[in-house]
Amino acid sequence: MSKTIFEHSSPSRKGVTLPKREIDTPLPTLIPETMLRTKKVRLPEVSELDVMRHYISLSHKNHFIEKGLYPLGSCTMKYNPKLNETLVRHSSFTTLHPFQPEETMQGSLELMYELQNDLAEISGMKGVTLQPSAGAQGEFTGIKIIAAYHKAKGNNHKDTIIIPDSAHGTNPASCSLVGYKTVELASNKEGRCDIAKLRELVNENTAGIMITNPSTLGLFETQIEEIAEIIHSVDALMYMDGANLNALLGIVQPGKIGFDLMHFNLHKTFATPHGGGGPGSGPVAVNEKLLPFLPVPIVTKDECGYHLSYENEATSIGKVHSFYGNFAVLIRAYIYIKMLGAEGLRRVSENAILNANYLMKILGDYYHIEHQENCMHEFVMDGTRQKKEYGITTLDIAKRLLDKGFHSPTIYFPLIIPEAMMVEPTETECLESLDAFAKAMIEIAEECKENPELVKEAPLTTPVKRVDDVRAVKVLEPIFPLPN
Ligand SMILES: *Cc1c(COP(=O)(O)O)cnc(C)c1O
Repeated sequence: MSKTIFEHSSPSRKGVTLPKREIDTPLPTLIPETMLRTKKVRLPEVSELDVMRHYISLSHKNHFIEKGLYPLGSCTMKYNPKLNETLVRHSSFTTLHPFQPEETMQGSLELMYELQNDLAEISGMKGVTLQPSAGAQGEFTGIKIIAAYHKAKGNNHKDTIIIPDSAHGTNPASCSLVGYKTVELASNKEGRCDIAKLRELVNENTAGIMITNPSTLGLFETQIEEIAEIIHSVDALMYMDGANLNALLGIVQPGKIGFDLMHFNLHKTFATPHGGGGPGSGPVAVNEKLLPFLPVPIVTKDECGYHLSYENEATSIGKVHSFYGNFAVLIRAYIYIKMLGAEGLRRVSENAILNANYLMKILGDYYHIEHQENCMHEFVMDGTRQKKEYGITTLDIAKRLLDKGFHSPTIYFPLIIPEAMMVEPTETECLESLDAFAKAMIEIAEECKENPELVKEAPLTTPVKRVDDVRAVKVLEPIFPLPN
């Protein structure tokens, strides 16, 4: 366990030199007696170097993309260009106030307008709101829009949304929050939506379907046009969970294959550092018939410049975020898109797909893979073989991977694959780092055979060792006791 900063303390060691006091009056006379501190404040007494070493050392105990590969499936933990970080801190942005008059923030409005347009182009949709501050809030916004559409059309009987069993857990939660019932659509043997079962589920009460594409199995849903025909035949809507858009940039425009609306995860696909609940952004794009329901304001442009338009206020679902969304994430996505351009964005997806397939082909010899066909930007392998033969679980394998300097893949998700390990290497990893990851996974597969106890005890090299799950839920005690 690391020392706390107090444990580095040594009496009268100093990290700062304060300037001589300029006020002559003894300070206490200016402060009411009752407010004066009577005991000396307890602060760590450390040198500047002590402080630096302490925090640098702490920062390295965590995992981050600059430290090593981070194949957390569905989360798109790609490298985030540092140029974004420099520009987003520019005083032109940091000194803005959301109540400033429009004419004094034309540059920022232009950035939002351009981003709306770029996302509309990328998705093949007609309009975009930048307000939602996460993928899940984008889903909520999208489902609210579906509800507003049905209300406007007098489709009052529609109360159900269909969701495939490979969906992200946020999908049914978002539908419930808006007040819809959800029904589960089973996957077929190939891991795709089962069309025959879909036909059985769809009826006059169907308000829409929510499909993650590529699915959480890393597979492209190939039957979207057929599904759209079935869904649209009862005036229901096609929602795409676009969190996995890292596979589709410049290759597929969801709006052109039958989807009516979708959300983006800017923090995933368009590179904002995320994880640990960090800031996100989940814009929603809609096609023509859903434009009236978008949240207000939308940024518009005319001969006088850029404006925050409330024109649709009467039909809009209203605001879903204070002011205009998580602006700093919007800036990063804007820079990312403009720097890469159309060509570059397509290469992002091509390389993300190539990297995932490369790893899948190598690791398929060591771990079971249920759906063997070419994957998109991620794939799902599993530990069923290791469990059956050596009693080793996917959790054990994931822990052992930490010892080898890698973050674990997403585990036990999707739920339809037992002992799942969902691997998303992203396009920013080079061949050598993919090989290093593959080597680590192969070593673990061999350790499962030759030294299963070692794998079950892992991790052995991390600051916190194997957590006792049972004790953790039964006993409440602070991990870092506070100093007296
Ligand atoms: C990450 C993710 C979400 C949720 O996005 P948040 O920004 O975490 O709310 C939804 N669906 C899929 C498929 C995802 O991967």
